[in-house]
Amino acid sequence: MTEYDAIIVGARCGGAPTAMLLARAGHKVLLVDRMAFGSDIMSTHFIKRTGASRLNDWGLLDAIRDIGTPAIEHLSFNIDDITLKGNAPAYKGIDADFTPRRKYLDKILVDAAIEAGVEVREKFRVDELIFDEDRVVGIKGTGKNGTQVSERAKVIVGADGTNSFVGNSVKAECHVDAGIHTCGFYAYHSGMREADNAAILNVLTDKRRFYINFPTNDDLDMVFLFWPTGEAKSVRKDVEAAYYESLKNVPELEARVRGGQRESRIMGTHMLPNFFRRAHGPGWALVGDAALHRCPITAQGITNAFTHAEILAEELCLAFGGDKNIDVALADYDRRQFEQLKPMFDYTVHLAMLQPTPDLVQKMLPLISQDVAATSAFMGAFLGSVPLNQVFPPELMERFASDVERGQRAVKARA
Ligand SMILES: Cc1cc2nc3c(=O)[nH]c(=O)nc-3n(C[C@H](O)[C@H](O)[C@H](O)COP(=O)(O)OP(=O)(O)OC[C@H]3O[C@@H](n4cnc5c(N)ncnc54)[C@H](O)[C@@H]3O)c2cc1C
Repeated sequence: MTEYDAIIVGARCGGAPTAMLLARAGHKVLLVDRMAFGSDIMSTHFIKRTGASRLNDWGLLDAIRDIGTPAIEHLSFNIDDITLKGNAPAYKGIDADFTPRRKYLDKILVDAAIEAGVEVREKFRVDELIFDEDRVVGIKGTGKNGTQVSERAKVIVGADGTNSFVGNSVKAECHVDAGIHTCGFYAYHSGMREADNAAILNVLTDKRRFYINFPTNDDLDMVFLFWPTGEAKSVRKDVEAAYYESLKNVPELEARVRGGQRESRIMGTHMLPNFFRRAHGPGWALVGDAALHRCPITAQGITNAFTHAEILAEELCLAFGGDKNIDVALADYDRRQFEQLKPMFDYTVHLAMLQPTPDLVQKMLPLISQDVAATSAFMGAFLGSVPLNQVFPPELMERFASDVERGQRAVKARA
């Protein structure tokens, strides 16, 4: 039987780049997914410039541009009665955000993995992990034609999404679980494009509503609406009515939606948890949503998955090259991703709680709105090109972290 360096379960934003980076470094990788490669998935697709810079480093950003993906260079944040307009600072030379449909993005990622020499199997479902005592050493799975096969590797990577099969099989606990605070539904519309490629956010704190709108491929616009989780039952009862009713709160957006044509059904979920799961153990690691899930209100998931791929590949290359013990490398991966991604996780949970704007932010916003550089920095904090603590004072950073703790306490109290 071939022994791979790594077997990666899940071939999307987390799995495909991890596989590609390892193969580019000369390692033997098997990448499997139970779905067809490049199929669509329930997810919108705003890739922040921090994520786009990874695509650029990997030589894939041109492929994203070449399929007509809008480069978002204008942002409009409408927070209650304050409007901020501008662009965030560039990140590693990338001064735009990109919005490729997942059916295009995920195919570009898998194709790059294949080109790097990764062995791939689509419509291959992993049914079981193989253990040698407490170490994961392989997988058992079912291929396209129903054949059952076993494969072995030095490390098995679960890039298999929120309800990770790999994570559940190794009983990886959520060491931070801040609960669910939102439900979100979105649809694609034609005929509502703005003259410039702007992404528009509307936040109505008194109504506890959050709206995201951006242009995407095929001359479509994506419109994404959030409600507090307490309203999930009534939203789900009649999603279409809830969607159009909620749009009435933002007349400008409603007029653009009504002036165009809805081109998809309204899709979404009330299952938007906020957690960090333990992302490593003997012979295994988790990347992407399997390791860290958060509400998509800050559009952070794809960028997080790319960050995981980059850090894990770096650590595994050290291990495979004999420069680091593999268990130390896996632990270092988990620690590094947690440290890097925790501040934005806290900010995301804070926003997902759809609560009144903190007094301090209320005082800051009018001043920020009158200052081009401050507006740009505020947007950069949201988009990741400016560290959060450069924009928000320590008391606000503490507030974001304490909202996470409050969420955790509520989860524990319900358990
Ligand atoms: C409604 C919504 C909107 C979002 N909008 C944005 C956004 O605008 N920007 C952003 O950055 N993020 C967004 N996200 C988050 C983003 O979708 C995720 O962070 C991203 O998809 C994570 O990628 P992943 O590779 O970790 O997992 P996934 O994309 O979930 O892929 C997991 C893969 O694993 C495969 N798999 C699972 N189990 C097995 C098995 N047993 N055997 C074989 N294969 C298996 C699945 O078939 C799947 O293809 C959104 C999420 C939602 C729900």
